[in-house]
Amino acid sequence: MAACFRLRGCGAPRLPPAPRGRAPLRRLAGAPAGLPAALLRTDGFVGGRWRPAAATFPVHDPATGAALGQVADCGVAEARAAVRAASEAFRSWRGVPAKERSSLLRKWYDLMIQNQDDLARIITAENGKPLKEAQGEVLYSALFLEWFSEEARRVYGDVIGGPARDRRGLVLKQPVGVAVVITPWNFPSAMITRKVGAALAAGCTVVVKPAEDTPLSALALAELADQAGIPPGVYNVVPCSRQKAKEVGEALCTDPLVSKISFTGSTATGKILLHYAADSVKRVSMELGGHAPFIVFDSADVDRAVAGALASKFRNSGQTCVCSNRFLVQRGIHDSFVKKFGEAMERSLRVGNGFEEGTTQGPLINEKAVEKVEKHVSDAVSKGATVVMGGKRHQFGKNFFEPTLLTEVTQGMLCAHEETFGPLAPVIKFDTEEEAVAIANAADVGLAGYFYSRDPAQIWRVAEQLEVGMVGVNEGLISTVECPFGGVKQSGLGREGSKYGIDEYLELKYVCYGGL
Ligand code: NAP
Repeated sequence: MAACFRLRGCGAPRLPPAPRGRAPLRRLAGAPAGLPAALLRTDGFVGGRWRPAAATFPVHDPATGAALGQVADCGVAEARAAVRAASEAFRSWRGVPAKERSSLLRKWYDLMIQNQDDLARIITAENGKPLKEAQGEVLYSALFLEWFSEEARRVYGDVIGGPARDRRGLVLKQPVGVAVVITPWNFPSAMITRKVGAALAAGCTVVVKPAEDTPLSALALAELADQAGIPPGVYNVVPCSRQKAKEVGEALCTDPLVSKISFTGSTATGKILLHYAADSVKRVSMELGGHAPFIVFDSADVDRAVAGALASKFRNSGQTCVCSNRFLVQRGIHDSFVKKFGEAMERSLRVGNGFEEGTTQGPLINEKAVEKVEKHVSDAVSKGATVVMGGKRHQFGKNFFEPTLLTEVTQGMLCAHEETFGPLAPVIKFDTEEEAVAIANAADVGLAGYFYSRDPAQIWRVAEQLEVGMVGVNEGLISTVECPFGGVKQSGLGREGSKYGIDEYLELKYVCYGGL
């Protein structure tokens, strides 16, 4: 079988020969002490080989600005070669029995768990999130491999009795083909395995383009995939600089050998990729931006609501797509919620370097992200909002922002209708349930929504009326591998995780079996 996975000519762009499998490790120059040399890879990973590129780009620690190393800046040639390798590998991988694919995914999962601390250190170094959160991400990420290793064996078809005595309809489920996987920096590991676990389980092969800010986690996953015995060409990674993202993205997403585009990132980029998909009619999964409402009704348990607000707002310094982006609080409970929320923020949030014990709020990913939060705060204040807490850059460093609580926020302010993606909690006061639902649904995106209520009838009504893909009722943390993740409206298309996630990588084929 190994021969089937070898990268052949067939018009594939020629790349410099590279060592197979475990090439000598190129250590990251200047990497902070404590980063795991064994998992630090800087070359692209194509057809089971580590491939340098003609140029490199730097990766920085967003907390200190320190250079973590130089990573291969793959271009169009490397992207095409990766697609070719994935296409070659697909011919064999699709026929590997589900039980074997399952075992390989399970081995990859085991290796992630064995290396959990090292993988977490890489995430904290390149993304900035506190080490404890990074450890949580590695576990969450690994669980997608475990989950889909189990789902790989549960792909069933159908037998359908047709209108004629001598015929039966069969429905086969078959892998879609080569999937391009483009991921953001905010979950450098989990956004990859959530897609790749499902794709590999279904029998697809993948080419991953990670974000410029966080390629090291994707490459560490490649090292572990190789160690787990995932065949060459099944998991490929082409890191590239932001400058090349457009041309590499276009090369990947328009390649006729690619059948599926799976993207997590901003709605703006998602729309560009949808255009590429339309031109060659490719399958798509789009996990795009959010603008989650967090509604606190008068009937809520205020302490529980405050705990949920903290958890849903400040994880990853507010940089998750399901982070609450606006707090809608009913008049009767408003003052008590704001007071307790402010006290809880003061008590529980500590800004600092993610490697320091006790830090809960790391840096934002880069200065542009800080500028966006700053802009949302100044716009709100200029239109009448009150700063209860925070409101400016944090003295810890240039990418840090103070956890901020604003009240008297109104619909006309930027933070009320745009995703902030930072540690800003704007509170809007409302009077009736209808008003809250109308404000919540006024957004053109609909990923997650949260509300707190102890009125069962209200819980049913509001859960059904919110125009989002995921609802947290009296709960601020909702993501789990067993449940479907995804949005409605401009938050995207398709679902990841859960028993539905694998369907995104499967085609249905109807076979009419006659002459019976
Ligand atoms: P982004 O700018 O759209 O980037 C996401 C990925 O797309 C990165 O790898 C980026 O590369 C790449 N990219 C950018 N322009 C491209 C192009 N023209 N062609 C191909 N690839 C391109 O998003 P982001 O700012 O990194 O991430 C934050 C956004 O992601 C937020 O809106 C958040 O809500 C959303 N998100 C959604 C989910 C979800 O599951 N729904 C989960 C996490 C995040 P570079 O890094 O090199 O620019």
